[in-house]
Amino acid sequence: MHAILRTSAAFLLIGTNASAGVTLPAGQRWDAESRTFNGEDRSLVGGISFSVEGGSYAAFRDQFSWISTPSVGDFQSAVESAFAAWTTVDPTSGLASAFSFTPSLSTSVVTGPSFGTVRFEGAEIDIVASDAGTNGLLGLTTVLGFGVPVTLTSGVANYTQSAAIQAVDLHINNNPGAVYSLNAFRRVLTHELGHAIGLGDVDQGGQFIDDNYDSSSPVSTLNNSWAGLVDPLDPANSIGLNNYSISPSIFATTGIDLLMESNGLGVGASNPLSNLFPLTNDEYGMRQYLYPSLVAVPEPGSSVILGLTLLLGNLRMRRKRT
Ligand SMILES: [Zn+2]
Repeated sequence: MHAILRTSAAFLLIGTNASAGVTLPAGQRWDAESRTFNGEDRSLVGGISFSVEGGSYAAFRDQFSWISTPSVGDFQSAVESAFAAWTTVDPTSGLASAFSFTPSLSTSVVTGPSFGTVRFEGAEIDIVASDAGTNGLLGLTTVLGFGVPVTLTSGVANYTQSAAIQAVDLHINNNPGAVYSLNAFRRVLTHELGHAIGLGDVDQGGQFIDDNYDSSSPVSTLNNSWAGLVDPLDPANSIGLNNYSISPSIFATTGIDLLMESNGLGVGASNPLSNLFPLTNDEYGMRQYLYPSLVAVPEPGSSVILGLTLLLGNLRMRRKRT
């Protein structure tokens, strides 16, 4: 089951942190502060704009081979579900998404000549059909960065433990031998959108943020929620989170089905291909790390609404306990 989907990222999206005293990777993020490049918005302001090659869902659909060609409406719904998966409320922590996506299909996509290339023109995320030269169901997302600090979604300006994303070209393989089901297409796109907002592959070695990873019990320690431990005002110095180097083979363990696994895209019994919201606690944690939200949605039936003051109070308490 894990063999059918593959993807990769051309760049290591989580950068190494050179600053003394900082234990967690810096990361690349879209800037919460208005930023323009060549007259185009390149920030979270107005939502992260995206367009598809061909300028319409019908034209984009028709660039791929299908087991059973979906209707335009079903294809559009699959694309929209891939975006919605990243902006849904984290069901475990209750943390909301601090960003949104905005379709801009009238913007013509601009990319380089081959699979995985990137140009800054076009929408903020250009989604293109591109021949990878193999018949794998896969994508390749490339990210251009400004190399300058960002304003965090929590309002912290000039956050130096990060770098602003300038443009993304998200390629999905349209080799004639790559024949998609709608579910497989949606999963590939959902995974690649993770790269488009700054997440890396979890199984490519190197840096992995977690609270309690233990190689002797990977299923329980990689599946628990840690989004609430992220310090919204300084994610790279969150107390209780650490940077782990985890063997790629760990992610083949039964019961570990993370969307951001490059090998298999987390498809497994605990995260089936039909899952419309395939983010796990790990991806929700990384979303909170890159785009810290100060908004927690109350449990059903609760009248408690977390405000900034209360949330900060909780963080101080957590520091004292640690
Ligand atoms: Zn990937």
